[in-house]
Amino acid sequence: MTQDKRRRRGFSRRNFMQGAAAGAAAAASGALLSGAAHAHNKKKKTPHQDPDLILQDGRIHTMDADGTVASTVAIKDGRFIEVERGRAHLRAGPRTRVVDLRGRTVVPGIIDNHNHLVLMGNRPGHHTPLENAHSLAEALAVLGDRAREVPRDAWITTIGGFHTNHLYANPADKTTGRFPTLAELDSVTPNNPVWLSIGFNGPSVTNSAGRNILNGRVVDGQPINVAADGSISGGGGQSTRALLYLRQTLLNPEERRRSTLDAMKYAASLGVTTHIDQGAFQATNTAADGAAHEDNFTMHFPFLEVYEEGEGLVRLRINFLHMEADDATPELVQRLKNAFPFFGGDLVKTGGIGEFIAQGTAVPGRFLEAARKVARAGWRAEVHSLGRRASLTSAPPDFELEISAFETVNNEFPGIVGSKRWVVAHVPGITQEWIDKFKAIGGSLSLTGWQFLAGNPVTNTLSPYAGPPFRMILNSGINSGMSSDGMQIAPMNPWIHMYYATTGINARGVLINGGQQITRAEVLRLYTRDNGWFLREEDDLGSIEVGKLADLAVLDRDYFSVPNDDLKRIRSIMTVVGGDIVHDAKVLRVERERDDDD
Ligand SMILES: [Zn+2]
Repeated sequence: MTQDKRRRRGFSRRNFMQGAAAGAAAAASGALLSGAAHAHNKKKKTPHQDPDLILQDGRIHTMDADGTVASTVAIKDGRFIEVERGRAHLRAGPRTRVVDLRGRTVVPGIIDNHNHLVLMGNRPGHHTPLENAHSLAEALAVLGDRAREVPRDAWITTIGGFHTNHLYANPADKTTGRFPTLAELDSVTPNNPVWLSIGFNGPSVTNSAGRNILNGRVVDGQPINVAADGSISGGGGQSTRALLYLRQTLLNPEERRRSTLDAMKYAASLGVTTHIDQGAFQATNTAADGAAHEDNFTMHFPFLEVYEEGEGLVRLRINFLHMEADDATPELVQRLKNAFPFFGGDLVKTGGIGEFIAQGTAVPGRFLEAARKVARAGWRAEVHSLGRRASLTSAPPDFELEISAFETVNNEFPGIVGSKRWVVAHVPGITQEWIDKFKAIGGSLSLTGWQFLAGNPVTNTLSPYAGPPFRMILNSGINSGMSSDGMQIAPMNPWIHMYYATTGINARGVLINGGQQITRAEVLRLYTRDNGWFLREEDDLGSIEVGKLADLAVLDRDYFSVPNDDLKRIRSIMTVVGGDIVHDAKVLRVERERDDDD
C-alpha cells in the first residue's frame, strides 16, 4: 500500500513517526514560510508550513477567471495553498514531496459530468479499454499486454466504449475498421479466453478459448452461437447471452471490487479526477440485459467499500436513475423520501435524480409528474435527450417535451430549474429556439462527443444530428459542461471528446459536425471550470486556485499545441487528487526531504 492510500484512510503510522521527527529537522531544512504576508513564529510549526506536495516549473493552466498560467503550486491537506507564476514562496519541508515539472503542461483534474463509471466497475472479467486503439494492431497489442498481467485462464473482456470504426486493419485507411478475428486474438491471448463486445448489445467476438466455453452453451433458455471466426451476432440476444453467462459465472463481491479499482486506475491515467455517475438500466438477469444494465440498488457497494478502505483514487458523485413505466413512479417516490441529495464527503457523495426520472417523455403526464416530484423534494433532475426533429410535421423530440415540462414545473416551483441546476444531457439535435427557452429558465446542458465512435452525417435542414451543436450552444451563453457518456456507447477518454468537439471529425475520419467546432480552450473549460459549476462545487473543484481541492493532471504532451490527431493520444503522466498522487507513469521524479536553500 502506498503512502497516498494510507493518507486517504486518515491515519498513517509512518506519517505520525515522521511528524515526531520533523520538529528537529524543520530548522535544518529551512521549512519556513518566506511569504511576506505570513509572519509566523519561526520556532513553532504552523499548519501552513511543510506543504505535502510542491509541483514547480510547469505550464500550469489554472483555468481561473483570468486564465492565469502559473508555474508552481503548493498543496497541503488536500488543497492548493499556493499558486504562483514564479517560484513558490513556501519552502519544502522535510516531508514535502517536490516534483520538477520540466515545463510540462498541467491542467485541473478533468471532471466528467455524465458517465457510467459504476457500470465499468461492475464489469465481468478483466475489462480492458480499447477506446484508445487507433488501429487493429494497436488493439491486439493492448490485449496482448493485458494477457501478460492477468492470471492464466482468466477472462479478458472489453465491454463497450469502443467501435470497430477505429480498429483500422490498414492504419492509413480509415474505412478499414473491423473486429479482430478468432485467429488474431489467439495469436496475442493464447492462454486466456477473450470477449470483445460493442455498445449495449454487441455484436461481439471471442477467441478459441472463449469459443470453447461459449459456443452452444444454453443461457436463458437458448444456445449461444459462436461462428467459426469467433463472431457472435448482435441480434437475437446472442451477444447478451454471452454477457449474462459471464456475469453469472464471474461476478462476486471480490471481483467487483477488483474491477472497481481497475476502473478508477484507468480514469486516473486519463486525468479524469471527478465523475458524475448516471446509473444503469435496472437488471432483469435475463438475455434482455445489455452492457448498461446492472442492479441500481447494489452496484455502488464495491465503490463504497473501496472508499471506506481508503483506496478510492478518483471522486464519484452518484445520481439515481429512475426509469419506471408505472405512472405513479413508486420507486422514485421512495428514493425522494429516503435519500439525501448532494450528501457525503469530498471523495464520494450523492447527486441528483438522473439520467432518467421516468420511462419515456411522450407518455402524457408521467414525465411531468415525475419532474414535479423531484422539484417538490428540492432535488436536481438530469434527463437525457437523443432526439431531433426530422420534419416540421413530425412528433416533437424528447428535448422539446423535457424542456416544456421543466418550464411548467419551474412555474409551479419558482426558480427550481436554475437554483438546483437542472440538466438536459447529450442534446445532439437541439435547436436554437429550445436552447433559448431552456436558458430563459436557468437550465443547463451536458455536452458530449459520443458521436465520434459511430456518428454519421444526416442531411437535415431542421437540425444537425451529428452534434451536439457545440458552437451554437456556447454562443447562446447557456450554462453547459462537458461529459463522455462513457462507458458503453462512448469512450471515457476526455481527450477523444475534446478532439471531436474541436474538429467535428468522427472515428472514420469524416467531418460530420462541421460549423459547430469550438476551440481547445473552450472545451477544456467545459471539462474543468464549467463542470465545477455543473457539480454545484465551483468553490472546491474545476480550477487550480488557492483554497480549492488539489486535483490536477500533468500531461504527456502540450494540449494547446499538438496536432489534432495527437489530441486523442494525450495521457496524464501524473494525476493528483486531493494532493495525493493517484497515477504516476514514472516520467517525473518525485523528490523528498529536499534541501532547498536557494
Ligand atoms: Zn448516460
